[in-house]
Amino acid sequence: MTHVITRLCIRDGACMEVCPVECIVPGFPEDEWPLYYIDPDTCIDCGACVPECPVDAIFPEEDVPEEYQEDIELNARFFTEGPGYSAMEQASA
Ligand code: SF4
Ligand code: SF4
Repeated sequence: MTHVITRLCIRDGACMEVCPVECIVPGFPEDEWPLYYIDPDTCIDCGACVPECPVDAIFPEEDVPEEYQEDIELNARFFTEGPGYSAMEQASA
């Protein structure tokens, strides 16, 4: 199981600050990867990120609303096909 960031994300970074396993990464480049993403292989399902989000964009995988179901796969794909953790260096380069 994992937590999932949905397209409601406004990229303020609040969730990233509290994740104990640092598995939340800002998407980059922004036009291609407009959200923050959670690495499903590393997330320990602690739930700490959920109350930090000002727009309630984060859900446990099993509670992702129907209209955001595609975002489950999107979070995973950011790490498998997208830049994943290397986005952090690219964004600050
Ligand atoms: S549920 Fe916990 S481990 Fe998973 S992304 Fe949120 S803060 Fe990180
Ligand atoms: S706290 Fe919410 S809005 Fe902010 S980056 Fe995380 S998911 Fe996006």
